[in-house]
Amino acid sequence: MKIETKTCQSCKKDFTIEPDDFGFYEKIKVPLPTWCPKCRQQRRYAWRNERTLYRRNCGLCGKSAVTIYSANKPYKVYCNECWWGDGWDASEYGRDFDFTRPFFDQFAELQHDVPRMALLNKRSVNSEYTNHSGDNKNVYLSFAAFFNENVMYSTWVFHSRDCMDSSFVYEKGERLYEIIDSRTSYGCQFCLFLKDCSDCLYCYDCRGCNNCFMSANLRNKSYVFKNKQYSREEYLKKIKEYELSSFLTREGLNKEFQDLMEQNAIHRYIISERNVNSVGSLLYDCKNVHQSFEVTRGEDSKYVYGSIESKNCMDLYHVGLNTELCYELHGCTRVSNCQFCHLCYDNMNVMYSDTCQNSQNLFGCVSVKKGEYMIFNKKYPKEEYEKLKEKIIEHMKQTGEYGEFFPPQIAPVYYNETQGMFYAPMTKEKVLAKGWHWEENIPGTFGKETIKSASIPDKIEDVPDSYLGEIFACDSCSKNYNITQNELLFYRKEKIPFPRRCPNCRYKRRFDLRPLRKLWHRKCMCNNEAHPNHLSMGCSNEFETCYSPDIKEKIYCERCYQQEVY
Ligand SMILES: [Zn+2]
Ligand SMILES: [Zn+2]
Ligand SMILES: [Zn+2]
Ligand SMILES: [Zn+2]
Ligand SMILES: [Zn+2]
Repeated sequence: MKIETKTCQSCKKDFTIEPDDFGFYEKIKVPLPTWCPKCRQQRRYAWRNERTLYRRNCGLCGKSAVTIYSANKPYKVYCNECWWGDGWDASEYGRDFDFTRPFFDQFAELQHDVPRMALLNKRSVNSEYTNHSGDNKNVYLSFAAFFNENVMYSTWVFHSRDCMDSSFVYEKGERLYEIIDSRTSYGCQFCLFLKDCSDCLYCYDCRGCNNCFMSANLRNKSYVFKNKQYSREEYLKKIKEYELSSFLTREGLNKEFQDLMEQNAIHRYIISERNVNSVGSLLYDCKNVHQSFEVTRGEDSKYVYGSIESKNCMDLYHVGLNTELCYELHGCTRVSNCQFCHLCYDNMNVMYSDTCQNSQNLFGCVSVKKGEYMIFNKKYPKEEYEKLKEKIIEHMKQTGEYGEFFPPQIAPVYYNETQGMFYAPMTKEKVLAKGWHWEENIPGTFGKETIKSASIPDKIEDVPDSYLGEIFACDSCSKNYNITQNELLFYRKEKIPFPRRCPNCRYKRRFDLRPLRKLWHRKCMCNNEAHPNHLSMGCSNEFETCYSPDIKEKIYCERCYQQEVY
């Protein structure tokens, strides 16, 4: 059993290739990685503009479309209707491969010529401002959202309705506001990690609860207020004392919730369930999944981030739904035996391709629909295709390109537009020093506000309809924002004060509340003498946790945690 230590070509730090990894690389015939896992993930982040939206005219029909590409980007962009339509053919851009030049240079040229899809948004009604989304109705400024109705400012939301400012609502959320990670919950506000809960406010890690307030680690409880059981009448009386529609009241509650999370709540070392031999966090029903985050029903996979149903895969980011033998992909769905691809759906045996759909046996293609045996968008007979593909792979081995994901230098989106800015933030200087790009025309205005934040009424019932026509400035980043009619109706109905922050800062706040996609080796912090598994000096269990040693929170091993939930 060999373990190989290599030096990362990007950060120059050492990383190891584990015995089990070699088999995978051999199976899909790729050389060993030259970048460490963290840098490989950052390289994929650099390709995902999830939430920076622009308006730009379609290159074919001329109509204004919402897109992830700013007008100054040197690409052809078609609105979704035109891109999916029969009015153009990607093979018209076909060309020969030049063996005197590197692969990525030629690929970048192809990307500049072939029309790109404005953004990923399918089968939706009145949901123009969504990306990586589909099957929605009345969904606004939401991302990675599918099968929803009346959802606003939310991310990673499925089969939900009437939700706002929530992230990771895995299934059936209804009337949720500022919720992070929930399954089948209803009427909850400002909670983290809920399952089957209703009418809970400021709760952490609760399941099967209803009508609970400012509490943590509850199971099947009702009328619990600050982790204390009350009668229904007593509970309702206590809740009534709070003026929930008041901004000042909510600010106080937010602070109290933060203290609850830091001082009293017990945090399980990772958030995962029903897994076999798996290491990571937010893993559900996985088997042999390692160093991965946010994976549901994964098997024999490693370095997977944000995936549903992937088997025998490595290095995926937002990839899934029946995916097998895949490596180094971003934003791909229902693909098998595909490597080094970006935004590809429903494909088999596709390599080094960008935005290709319903295709088989492609190499180095851009925006191909229903294609087969194509290289650089040019069709070949099957035998010729195989021969030429192998010849290009040999060439790429010589240039050191084979086995590497697309470099951020040729990404059609720039680093400060991508998820890289959240997961691996870098300054403009550092980004440019790497030869990556920085977008100067990020959408948004400053200083155009018509109402000062300080003059917004404390209570939502005092906010007039005329606010629909006003411009506000974010308390945190000063960027201007406005509100929609549905939004104002939601605030009034749910007794939520008018937001003082822009949608992006609200997203960032939720992002910061969730554990990182990172693991640390730590020891259980429990020293509760009542726990039977302890020796004299508290618990000796150690684990890989998604909580950094720098934070104050109480991090417990599985056994101690289970004794603290009630
Ligand atoms: Zn590295
Ligand atoms: Zn068009
Ligand atoms: Zn802001
Ligand atoms: Zn313990
Ligand atoms: Zn303990």
